Amino acid sequence: MEVVLADKFRESAIAQEAQSIIGDCVQCGLCVPSCPTHRLLGDDWDSPRGRINLFRELLEDKPPSADARLHIDRCLTCRACEAVCPEHVRYGRLLDITRELFEPGAGRSLKDRLLRRAVRAVVPHRGRFTALLALGRVARKLLPAALRERVPLLSRVPEPRPAGPWPTRAHGRAMLVWEGCVQPALAPDINAATARVLDRCGIRLQPARAGCCGAMSQHMAAPAEARELMRRNIDACWSQIESGVEAIVITASGCAAHLRDYADLLRDDPAYADKARRFAALTRDIAEVVTAELDAGRLPVIPPRPRTPDRRVAWQAPCSLQHAQGLKGVVDRLLKYAGYTPTPIAYPFLCCGAAGSYSILQPEMARDLRAAKLETIMATRPKMIVTANIGCLHHLAEAATIPVRHWIDLLDEALAETERQVASSSTATPSRQG
Ligand code: SF4
Ligand code: SF4
Repeated sequence: MEVVLADKFRESAIAQEAQSIIGDCVQCGLCVPSCPTHRLLGDDWDSPRGRINLFRELLEDKPPSADARLHIDRCLTCRACEAVCPEHVRYGRLLDITRELFEPGAGRSLKDRLLRRAVRAVVPHRGRFTALLALGRVARKLLPAALRERVPLLSRVPEPRPAGPWPTRAHGRAMLVWEGCVQPALAPDINAATARVLDRCGIRLQPARAGCCGAMSQHMAAPAEARELMRRNIDACWSQIESGVEAIVITASGCAAHLRDYADLLRDDPAYADKARRFAALTRDIAEVVTAELDAGRLPVIPPRPRTPDRRVAWQAPCSLQHAQGLKGVVDRLLKYAGYTPTPIAYPFLCCGAAGSYSILQPEMARDLRAAKLETIMATRPKMIVTANIGCLHHLAEAATIPVRHWIDLLDEALAETERQVASSSTATPSRQG
């Protein structure tokens, strides 16, 4: 589709990039059935094809055919459309550019602006988020139940699972693990379980000395803030990278998807372009790392478990894992290795509605998308929901009637159980015959 850039955008490098991306779209509409917002609302302006038309009108500075801000805000950035597009239209990048160009003139209400500012001021900052969460947990305990239920934010404050020990054995191999901004407070068990699993493979896992990956700022039209976070993260990890770590392991697929984009997003920064390339090249989703260790025979055989109903789990693949990183089928295999039976859920490509800040900024849409997702999940009668991203985990757990966990926790438990069985069989006294 051709875009004639308005005069005010002719010299803008990112507008030219958007023009080139839109140029790849042939308006075939093959992406439309994959779009969760189009499925929910049935409005063509809430489909990728409709939104691309709105982007074109904005770049041409024509009066938009529909409420552009509304339909762009409703987009989840799930990139399900990108994953099925035969023309490989880079929709995610296009959306980021459009948000960056048009946010300053978006005409938001004061309430909307304050909410966005508050989200960016708290969520990406581990210390602030952890302190606020701790406050919420205390308030939850102190307030009478009736009052607690009337404060919606308090019903969202979960108690974390205990983290368990972090291994201390020395190994020749070392990797960094990304801590992220919200995961340490919401689910400290995830990285500790990762450290125990990799310890069994002879890998020492060190926490990366970094902060928020920058994804939230990037997707909330604050690219300068995102780039500053990216540069700080590279600086913070650089001595660990120089010391020869094999990989930067990410246990939240949302952060992994963004860290992989560092090379692209900092490509024009003369001081950081090379470092960003090296940084991105070291980035691995934990599912890739464990798969490689399993294939190399460094993980033990887990004896087959009885196929009992309590081993039926629903695998909810985060969009950032299956669409943004293109890692499909990888965790299903690891769950089977751990002795679980993943039940196939309908429309597995659809987003659960978490989508970073989306569940805060678009709460009704996020609730409806989650309700639809939970309906398809519960139709398979699982005993547990398993996922790979803290945002999805927390969002689903708020409304699910069964536990929601990260798959690495289940694998850690399965390996520990195998070790106990091996230890007990080797210490059992053999009975003498005759
Ligand atoms: S599938 Fe690709 S080319 Fe077709 S309308 Fe969607 S974005 Fe455009
Ligand atoms: S990113 Fe997701 S919500 Fe947005 S247009 Fe694409 S499929 Fe639809």
